[in-house]
Amino acid sequence: MSAAVGLPEIEAARARIAGMIRPTPVDPSPSLSERAGVPVWLKFEHLQHTGSFKLRGASNAVARLDEAARAGGVAAASTGNHGRALAHAARRAGVRAVICMSALVPRNKVEAIEALGAEARIVGASQDDAQVEVDRLIAEEGMVSIPPFDHRDVIAGQGTLGLEMIEAVPELDTLVVQLSGGGLIAGIAAAVKARRPAVRVVGVSMARGAAMQASLAAGRPVQVEELPTLADSLGGGIGLDNRHTFAMVRDLVDEVV
Ligand SMILES: *Cc1c(COP(=O)(O)O)cnc(C)c1O
Repeated sequence: MSAAVGLPEIEAARARIAGMIRPTPVDPSPSLSERAGVPVWLKFEHLQHTGSFKLRGASNAVARLDEAARAGGVAAASTGNHGRALAHAARRAGVRAVICMSALVPRNKVEAIEALGAEARIVGASQDDAQVEVDRLIAEEGMVSIPPFDHRDVIAGQGTLGLEMIEAVPELDTLVVQLSGGGLIAGIAAAVKARRPAVRVVGVSMARGAAMQASLAAGRPVQVEELPTLADSLGGGIGLDNRHTFAMVRDLVDEVV
């Protein structure tokens, strides 16, 4: 396990991706404030290019590639928000991107990835089969894997959201952040706890397949059964060989619900 991602890496990421991402608004929500009985703000990150915060981490990771890695290109097995973000970031940087996916992935998702300039490679009948192809591209074709959460540059990129939020809301006392693999909340917590240690950071997972919460309870990364859920951006485990996010969430996040 390596040292946690810290504020200097997050500030460097912010400067690096400044022209590549859109700083998104933080707006008060009258209806949620009324229901909660306290002022509630929302970070409008759904307005980010490609539709999610994943562009922050992917842009930072692609921008940090050295010449050899840029020449080899990047690969990932995500067909969701991370795949879209990586495709977009790679095209911008002039780097080849291969997104591997199973034959079960719907045609419209394949087309969306191709429209972003990436090569969609269809392999096998499961996400695991797609990951095997990513591993092969790395071993045999000199490509670099940029995973969706357990990667220092990805975590640092997501952490830029934390800086934007504490700057937009000086009176902030609790941050509620959705949580799956933990790249988002690890980066945010690292930024916020360094700048404003009194702010509480609370992670929210879906009930069906809360891998990080189960891992925290077990004291090590564990696998949980995945069940169908409406929260389909939160699917997937944290990886039994988790290197960064498990320790960061354990050490920096106040509570996981
Ligand atoms: C990826 C993603 C998450 C989960 O982020 P992690 O870094 O895996 O915890 C939550 N919400 C959306 C919209 C996402 O795309």
